[in-house]
Amino acid sequence: MAENCLFCKMVSGAIKPDTVYEDNDILAFRDINPQAPAHVLIIPRRHITSLNEIKKEDAGLAGALLIAARRIAEDLGAADAGYRLVINTNRDGGQTVFHIHLHLLAGRPMKWPPG
Ligand code: 5GP
Ligand code: ZN
Repeated sequence: MAENCLFCKMVSGAIKPDTVYEDNDILAFRDINPQAPAHVLIIPRRHITSLNEIKKEDAGLAGALLIAARRIAEDLGAADAGYRLVINTNRDGGQTVFHIHLHLLAGRPMKWPPG
């Protein structure tokens, strides 16, 4: 656990998120400031700062995050209509919480290119 990391506090239970999925390695909860009718953040329980810190030995975890996203999209009823996954990384990516997370956005048509 990284000190003063908001998402580590959710993993530890110090802050209780609106959880939609969890397993041994992963926690997923609703974003406090949703950008779509369904907006879920999918995080590893282990603190990893950003995608820049993902290593080859994290391949299993990285894959598990994607599998969790697919499952959550199904559970939300969004799989057929579609959805978007986003990983913001560092300044230009717009990252504001430095514990790696996938955004799962669903429930409305998404625009391209993103802002
Ligand atoms: P980033 O900008 O780092 O890609 O995404 C961080 C996300 O965390 C934002 O979408 C923001 O709304 C969300 N967020 C920030 N603080 C909280 C919080 O206390 N609870 C929840 N559930 N989401 C949060
Ligand atoms: Zn953390």
